[in-house]
Amino acid sequence: MSSSEFRVEKVVSREVLDSRANPTVQVDLYTGSGFGRFSVPSGASKGHLEALELRDGDKQRYAGLGVQKAVENVNKILGPKILGMDSRDQAKIDRILINLDGTENKGRLGANAILGVSIALARASADTTKSPFYRALAEGRKPSLPMPLMNIINGGKHAGNELSFQEFMVIPAGFRTFKEALRCGGEIYHALRLRLEAKYGKSAINVGDEGGFAPPINSVEEALGQINDAVDEAGYSPGQNVALGIDAAADSFYNQASGKYNVDGKLIDGDDLLELYVSLQEKFPLKSIEDPFHDEDFASFTRITKKRGAKVQIVGDDLFVTNIKRVAQGIRVKAANALLVKINQIGTLTETIEAVEMARKANYGLVLSHRSGETEDNSIADISVALATGQIKAGAPARGERTSKYNRLLLIEEELGSSARFYGPEFLKSHN
Ligand code: PEP
Ligand code: MG
Repeated sequence: MSSSEFRVEKVVSREVLDSRANPTVQVDLYTGSGFGRFSVPSGASKGHLEALELRDGDKQRYAGLGVQKAVENVNKILGPKILGMDSRDQAKIDRILINLDGTENKGRLGANAILGVSIALARASADTTKSPFYRALAEGRKPSLPMPLMNIINGGKHAGNELSFQEFMVIPAGFRTFKEALRCGGEIYHALRLRLEAKYGKSAINVGDEGGFAPPINSVEEALGQINDAVDEAGYSPGQNVALGIDAAADSFYNQASGKYNVDGKLIDGDDLLELYVSLQEKFPLKSIEDPFHDEDFASFTRITKKRGAKVQIVGDDLFVTNIKRVAQGIRVKAANALLVKINQIGTLTETIEAVEMARKANYGLVLSHRSGETEDNSIADISVALATGQIKAGAPARGERTSKYNRLLLIEEELGSSARFYGPEFLKSHN
């Protein structure tokens, strides 16, 4: 293959819509003989140290959420600068994009603009080799299919209900293939739908931003109880072949002024919250707890990891923001034992891979994650396989922007055939 085939020939960006009807950046990148496209996702419960998503602020368009400036930054600044370069030089090109921006948080040109180019580049380079994206990206790594952590009850900033915690997930851990795990999640989703409707009425089966139900429940324990019973009713066994997970997203119910958390209508301090997690873990087969405390409280993350980390995965999302400085700090103080990986929290593929490898080296689990605002783009499915993260969370097994990821994983598993690796019951060790 000649190097002219890999040469970046054209970069075009446009504004498209995400799953919340908000504009987002889409980038098309053409090499001499390949093409890559990426649509950038967007979060609602963001860590305060995330790379900056550039929004126009023009209240006349999309209430200020337009991304025309970011699109223009791709079309006029980032794209032209990398024309003629070899698309295989991902790290070098990402560095150029970072330097063109020149700020710590990518706030000048926008992390949405930069990430759009970074992932479209990786996809175009893979396409040029005529390999599937996951295969080209895997390089020396052994690809693996991730365990899906499926968010089937939505709360917090993702739903119009009173649940303090943001995500209640099922983890179909008792199966040997991704396909069977997905089926299990889908069947539990349906059993839950029937249960919620019977118990709370029709409005309980309305869904939140990630496709999970948003029932009028105001107790996190009740939400977990409903899921546990739905697991049973779907013909599975809680704790045997299905585990549960939560993303508290504690930042969203933490009050900085009082230093207290508002959980289920009660104001409690960090010690009480820790006790709540312990009691939930005693009652339910809880195997993953994400963002249990607010994102500057490394000390409480360290305490819960010390107390429960042998049995439960403690995941840092807003805590780490996929940033190696924060991950290094976490490793130093033994805060959490798993990293949530969100490509748009940091803004380039290269920096994402650096965070993943740093965490892996410290024996942290790895959960590749979507955002609550998504598109039909399925790149993160390939990225999770290529980086062998071992776990993915992409929302409920429902709604197109969520199923696009899960369905892509089904295809990858089929394509890998007998060489497909899926950790099943050993998913907590799947990052090794
Ligand atoms: C999360 O907090 O893990 C999440 C996916 O939500 P958001 O995209 O709103 O940050
Ligand atoms: Mg989170």
